[in-house]
Amino acid sequence: MPAMPRAAPDPRCPCGRDAAYADCCGRWHAGPGHLAAPDAESLMRSRYSAYVLGRVPYLLETWHPATRPAALSPDPATKWLGLEVRAHRRVDATHATVEFVARCRDGGRATRLHETSRFVLEGGRWLYVDGDLR
Ligand SMILES: [Zn+2]
Repeated sequence: MPAMPRAAPDPRCPCGRDAAYADCCGRWHAGPGHLAAPDAESLMRSRYSAYVLGRVPYLLETWHPATRPAALSPDPATKWLGLEVRAHRRVDATHATVEFVARCRDGGRATRLHETSRFVLEGGRWLYVDGDLR
């Protein structure tokens, strides 16, 4: 009996976790777990993946209404190359920060975005508030 063709491996999640996209940020981008990232780090990673995949509505939906821009048009020339989460700090029951470094190429220029982002838990959902660039 011939061997079954091997299924193609699931594409890895752009956020850098060793997991398939469907088992990682994909759960929060769409489907029954939409917008249900369980902690600030997962939300931050899912927002990075949303930038990589051009999921602009998700970026706006996970942005706190107080600081959310009216519209967002990421530069299509920006190519995201990788994410490294440096620290995830729970400040109190409803506030957390995530420090990360995201690498990207902007035109021909390689850039690093080093930011500490603030998140708040409201109505059972973590939301991005704002961040300080390093
Ligand atoms: Zn992910």
